[in-house]
Amino acid sequence: MMNAVFSLDAGPHAVVPPQLAPAPADPAGRIDTDRVADLIGQLLVALGEDPGREGLTETPARVAAWWSAFLSPDTSMTATCFTESHLRDQLVVVGGMNVWSLCEHHMLPMNLQAAAGYVPEGEVVGLSKFGRIAQRYAGRLQVQERFTRQIAREIASVIGREDVAVAVRGTHLCMSMRGVRMEAARTTTLQTGGRFQVDPVLSQQFLALATGQWGAA
Ligand SMILES: [Zn+2]
Repeated sequence: MMNAVFSLDAGPHAVVPPQLAPAPADPAGRIDTDRVADLIGQLLVALGEDPGREGLTETPARVAAWWSAFLSPDTSMTATCFTESHLRDQLVVVGGMNVWSLCEHHMLPMNLQAAAGYVPEGEVVGLSKFGRIAQRYAGRLQVQERFTRQIAREIASVIGREDVAVAVRGTHLCMSMRGVRMEAARTTTLQTGGRFQVDPVLSQQFLALATGQWGAA
């Protein structure tokens, strides 16, 4: 598969090469919620706050509960494919998959709009599967480039072929509220495999359908 990264400006994510290192394992199940709450309390003290003051007393528990929920996305999904034996050469694009993740370099939110495409050959993938895959890989410390590749690899393994394309547009708070402070910056990543790499018409059709849903925001 090929990975491409585009950025609308020269922000820090524009120069990140495709992430080729092995992906970290699923974090789910390893979170110690009580310890996280304890550490959030210590963080408040280190930040010069009084964790006992009104408004902060429940904050460590709330933040710990959020971390626990964020790092434990529903992984119970099973691959659902339906036989459509006469179906060939139709491009299927599922767009509008909007998920929140956390940039692992700054632990700040990133909003990721994902679109996935594939070409059925005698079987179709249950559409809700795509959204679950996106949610699963968003619920962890992440980088957009790896997120894009992980979705593509998962779909490829479900359909048993490499004919998959995934486009993701990310809004990164680490670019918007710190560092270069470019609120309008958007990062686009594209991962293609199989026919999407050798058929320029197919890849153009995918990009038109995928990016057409992104609007101006
Ligand atoms: Zn970042």
